[in-house]
Amino acid sequence: MLRWNGWGDDSIEYPLPENAAAFLAERVGPGAPPQDARLEDVLTAVPPSRLPAHPLIQTEPLPRLLHARGQSFPDWVALRYGRIPVFPDGIAYPTTEEDVADLLHFAAQHQVQIIPYGGGTSVVGHINPVVGAPPTLTINMQRLNRLYRLDETSHLATFGAGIRGPDLEAQLRARGFTLGHFPQSFEYSTLGGWIATRSSGQQSLGYGRIEALFAGGVLHAPAGRLEFPPHPASAAGPDVRHLLLGSEGRMGILTQATVRVAPLPGREDFHAVFFPDFVSGQTAVRQIMQAGIPLSMLRLSTAVETATTLALAGHEQLIGLLERLLAMRNIGAEKCLLLLGFSSSNDLVKTARHAALEITGKQGGIHVGRTFGSQWHKSRFRTPYLRNTLWEAGYGIDTLETAVPWEDVPATLNAIEEAIRSALAPWDERVHLFTHLSHMYRHGASIYTTYLFRLAPDPEETLHRWRLMKEAASRAIVAHRGTISHQHGVGTDHAPYLQAEKGALGMAAIGNALRCFDPQGIMNMGKLIEKS
Ligand SMILES: Cc1cc2nc3c(=O)[nH]c(=O)nc-3n(C[C@H](O)[C@H](O)[C@H](O)COP(=O)(O)OP(=O)(O)OC[C@H]3O[C@@H](n4cnc5c(N)ncnc54)[C@H](O)[C@@H]3O)c2cc1C
Repeated sequence: MLRWNGWGDDSIEYPLPENAAAFLAERVGPGAPPQDARLEDVLTAVPPSRLPAHPLIQTEPLPRLLHARGQSFPDWVALRYGRIPVFPDGIAYPTTEEDVADLLHFAAQHQVQIIPYGGGTSVVGHINPVVGAPPTLTINMQRLNRLYRLDETSHLATFGAGIRGPDLEAQLRARGFTLGHFPQSFEYSTLGGWIATRSSGQQSLGYGRIEALFAGGVLHAPAGRLEFPPHPASAAGPDVRHLLLGSEGRMGILTQATVRVAPLPGREDFHAVFFPDFVSGQTAVRQIMQAGIPLSMLRLSTAVETATTLALAGHEQLIGLLERLLAMRNIGAEKCLLLLGFSSSNDLVKTARHAALEITGKQGGIHVGRTFGSQWHKSRFRTPYLRNTLWEAGYGIDTLETAVPWEDVPATLNAIEEAIRSALAPWDERVHLFTHLSHMYRHGASIYTTYLFRLAPDPEETLHRWRLMKEAASRAIVAHRGTISHQHGVGTDHAPYLQAEKGALGMAAIGNALRCFDPQGIMNMGKLIEKS
């Protein structure tokens, strides 16, 4: 069963390896396990629904609690301590397009706010009802999850937008295809959610970000129905499809999506290289990108992230041996791990690997084979379960991300880390933080920082400290002209920083476009654009 106040299926645990407790205590101090609220108590706090009756809408407390919050850090604090100020008034699970149109009509008639809901994996407050808003209806899309059509000639597949990652891939794989979109939330996030948040998968280097994969579909907006044909390309004026990408449920509900799929690769390998330091690693990945070598993934960790990965990997003896071998090749405490993914035909994998390793070698990188890469690939959707374990041991963990041109990567990365590190200084609390470059482009890279800290005895205090870290990091991103989000989207948490990126005119253009699709303002208020 899905955890109501944490990540994933409650039959899956991710215990900390033996040495991890000591590692964390040394970095940030011992954690004090918090007391979780009981599900029964939280359910009694759900107020009566304010929605008029409708045959498709459920108003019982349990489904309303399960749709009240997503997966952001404030969401975790709210759920774990049972401090949820507002719940959706009802939940609907449409099974047809007509159901969706009917619910939109009902909402417009009764001035009801609508929150489209995919998998609820948002980490920036996308699906949370707003305090003081009109009655709110959450529309869970999970039953619109069919493969409608696979055009094997054009490599186009049309799905119901509520389909989750594993179901989508299973249906494609059975026919020899893949979408290749693997966000870390893959197990639970949905196609519609990926499109509405401009998501990026771990292998988007090879397969493309969702904006490259999304070819067309059907949108039901309060103002009407709009179909986007899957043209391979078009010069017919501005592309409205691009407005839908990243629209965060404010434009309407995407019911069907046609995506560009690829034949399953003949071969898929993940390799690891260790560099003596981050500068040499960064130079190598930039050169690989600019040489146009066809890889499906590059992920370069800083020295602290590398040390953390190795410390938490378990296998102490094996890691010790590896460290001694690397030390003999002058790779010591500052070592940085690069993972490289290759997904294509046997011949292309071989050629690409040869070309990439030639570049890494020139920067002093030592290739250590496939063990690390394969292990990463095997456990990549398991890592989020660690968040449950850490919380239960008294630690909070969160991530944030941006993207900047190559020239600005070092200064931006340092500024983000410094901003977070110093935010808890007034409490004499330490933060363990580490970063990797998660997605690479010819012209720049995304910077992905994870920060781990102790929970305070009082939830309000924990939230306050988190807010200080988040705000300091967001200001550092804006000051370095990074995007406020490379992949997580805007939601509520990033909305205050959007104008710095889009400009006043850009914000007005987005606001006006949304109003055109939703003139009464019934779609997901308070998200993406703060006041409209
Ligand atoms: C552990 C973890 C790891 C993550 N890793 C990644 C990652 O690697 N890459 C990445 O990009 N993101 C990642 N995320 C963030 C999150 O998974 C993405 O934002 C994802 O795209 C959200 O999809 P969802 O289906 O869960 O959408 P939800 O969270 O349900 O909704 C997100 C937004 O999309 C809108 N929406 C959903 N469905 C529709 C629809 N059919 N029509 C219109 N609007 C809709 C909602 O209204 C909301 O505004 C991660 C999150 C977690 C918790």
